[in-house]
Amino acid sequence: MDLGIAGKWALVCAASKGLGRGCAQALVGEGVNVVLNARSEAPLQETAAQLRQVAAAWAEKTGGTAPQVLPVVADITTEAGRNAVLSAAGGPGAAFDILVNNAGGPPPGDFRDWQREQWIAAVDANMLTPITLLQAVIDGMTERGFGRIINITSSAVKAPIDILGLSNGARSGLTGFVAGVARSPEIASRGVTINNLLPGKFDTDRLQATFVGAADKTGQSAAAVRQQQQDQVPAQRFGTPQEFGAICAFLCSQQAGYITGQNIMPDGGLFPGAY
Ligand code: NAP
Repeated sequence: MDLGIAGKWALVCAASKGLGRGCAQALVGEGVNVVLNARSEAPLQETAAQLRQVAAAWAEKTGGTAPQVLPVVADITTEAGRNAVLSAAGGPGAAFDILVNNAGGPPPGDFRDWQREQWIAAVDANMLTPITLLQAVIDGMTERGFGRIINITSSAVKAPIDILGLSNGARSGLTGFVAGVARSPEIASRGVTINNLLPGKFDTDRLQATFVGAADKTGQSAAAVRQQQQDQVPAQRFGTPQEFGAICAFLCSQQAGYITGQNIMPDGGLFPGAY
């Protein structure tokens, strides 16, 4: 299926690895120009080099111009970092048609230990940063009559996990905000959709780090923790960043223009509810 978004410009945040990278790769694979960022330069440049190969393959297959891949070393949770990525779309007048909001998740812990400082950091990274980026791009999208905003949140929004209280709280705030804005007629009637993607368990560095953390606490091996968690998923496996990226690309497509304000949870069947 041609998703009809070749030549558009996307900002994919926190995308040198994992889910952000999966989204960036899927979009470049549809001919979309991508600005991507991360804090560490080496993995970001490595990912950008691989994405340029995807861009070249797309150009060869379609006969079109290879989409641009522009990496920006920046911390997306800082104002300077956001300004750097927002000004990076190539060429005069280029503006973002697609925004994929993403950042590292807050650390786990005991709610008794979380002081104002930890809450502010979590809300800044996982609620206010995506809202600030949305504010920066949305009016241009409505004026041009096309926009797609995807927020990577977490299955913990629907099925909160006790030790992830900072994430549950901050991401729920974003979810509530998005539910209202996405349904605003001045947004929804002008070709702009806003949706949240709630990953269950996807095989990324972050997921692996949680196995190591759990193994350290319980004395089991990380491999044993991994196997136990995999066994709990009805699909009997973790998701891949490629699968996640493909869902993101579809939500960014022309065909997905009637899907807005939704919380879509790819999780291999792990969430036990009907709704
Ligand atoms: P990951 O594999 O650890 O990748 C995180 C990416 O984000 C890296 O490229 C990292 O690069 C970048 N990054 C982190 N903080 C950043 C910042 N402040 N500014 C710019 N870039 C930043 O993680 P992931 O598994 O893809 O997770 C992505 C998001 O989904 C997280 O919020 C996570 O909590 C959430 N999530 C993931 C899962 C899962 O199963 N994987 C499940 C539920 C929720 P640098 O470190 O170089 O900046």
